[in-house]
Amino acid sequence: MRVLVTGAAGFIGSHLSELLVAQGHFVVALDDLSTGRIENLAALDDHESFRFVEGDCLDKTLVAKLMNDCDACVHLAAAVGVKLIVERPVHTIETNVKATEIVLETAAEHGSPVLLASTSEVYGKSDKAPFREDDDISLGPTTHSRWAYACSKALDEWLALAYARERGLPVTITRFFNTVGPRQTGRYGMVLPTFAAQALKGDPITVYGSGEQTRCFAHVRDVVKAVVRLLTEPSAVGRVFNVGTSEEVTISALAERVKTRAASASPIVFIPYEKAYAEGFEDMPRRVPDVTRLREALGFVPETPLDEIIDDVLADQRKRLEAPPA
Ligand code: UDP
Repeated sequence: MRVLVTGAAGFIGSHLSELLVAQGHFVVALDDLSTGRIENLAALDDHESFRFVEGDCLDKTLVAKLMNDCDACVHLAAAVGVKLIVERPVHTIETNVKATEIVLETAAEHGSPVLLASTSEVYGKSDKAPFREDDDISLGPTTHSRWAYACSKALDEWLALAYARERGLPVTITRFFNTVGPRQTGRYGMVLPTFAAQALKGDPITVYGSGEQTRCFAHVRDVVKAVVRLLTEPSAVGRVFNVGTSEEVTISALAERVKTRAASASPIVFIPYEKAYAEGFEDMPRRVPDVTRLREALGFVPETPLDEIIDDVLADQRKRLEAPPA
């Protein structure tokens, strides 16, 4: 296949592009390099089955030209990271809604199958665990910008499913749950690269809130495997899939584990949410995926143990700290 990957220079996009090329596919990588980094694609530079295009998904002419040249599209380009989302809500809504609309409209014109990356954020603050794909969603008020992200991605999902129903567009939706691994940066607030860098530098490890909130962390290597499989799985068309692991950990236990595995002397400090984010910030107390549907469709789910994930992230952060400043 020739696959158009939007957001290809991002953390997930770069791992996905590498896997697609390794499996014999051709990747057309589109990224505006706003949060993605060209260095993430260094391993594919000059590869005969890879082409990088610097550009914006809001550029319909460009998207149409690239889509015309491809057999399928994985749409990953989006505003990313809670910190960025809270600080730049207009950018978040416009990027997530307008760009997805252009990608879906163009794909429908060309009849190209689309895999749309969505997020566990769409479940919002529901206290149910685990989350199943057909569960109700429960979002906070429009005055809290965090929910703009969940709402914009939920709208993307609705739009994608509407294109599937009305125009027969083959779409598959993946809801990623806390995907982590090498190349993820802590710059946009993600917890694991942040803790790893803090532990290695001997800085305080900053746990927000009580630290009793839980997450399930999936290795990006497993997640992109699932994405490629879903892209070619006929039974996945028109459906939504949770993609994540079931290994649940509290954020304070995560801090302890990172500290131990890094053999770090960093203190673990607790920071109130209002200091870490904007006033009125609401966090999710618990976020666990039900991955039954993914297991049934593919016969596998992400399962790399958390300690192995932490070690990979520590190794990546160590490399960055040792690298000479760019
Ligand atoms: N978090 C933390 N310290 C940090 C960054 C994040 O305690 O330096 C917490 C954050 O409040 C949340 C969890 O870690 O409860 C996961 O945060 P992340 O932004 O990685 O993902 P998400 O909130 O989307 O699950």
